[in-house]
Amino acid sequence: MEGLTESEIAGFVVGALLLGASIAAQRVDGFIATSQRRSLNMCKRCGDLRMVACSQCKGVGSVRKSGIFTFGLLDDIYESLGAETKAADLVACSACRSKGRLRCPECSNVR
Ligand SMILES: [Zn+2]
Ligand SMILES: [Zn+2]
Repeated sequence: MEGLTESEIAGFVVGALLLGASIAAQRVDGFIATSQRRSLNMCKRCGDLRMVACSQCKGVGSVRKSGIFTFGLLDDIYESLGAETKAADLVACSACRSKGRLRCPECSNVR
């Protein structure tokens, strides 16, 4: 443990704890929102909008031609770096017919 002072270690531990706490808080938030919706008799998936964002195109309505195959970490990194997606590379999303939304699978079939 040379090079690390006790206070540095303590700082690291506190940082890790804070990070863990904030992640846990987000989970709790999500859980509460879900149970609130349920208690209000709302659809827990869509909150009674009867629509959910298309997971294929992330609600945009179009997908890149290369599509699912390159979907993933690299794409996200490119996007976060501000790389522009060329319009020519986009095709209408077939999953939602470029609406960006789908009928909620949780409640659209029930009624
Ligand atoms: Zn779509
Ligand atoms: Zn729903």
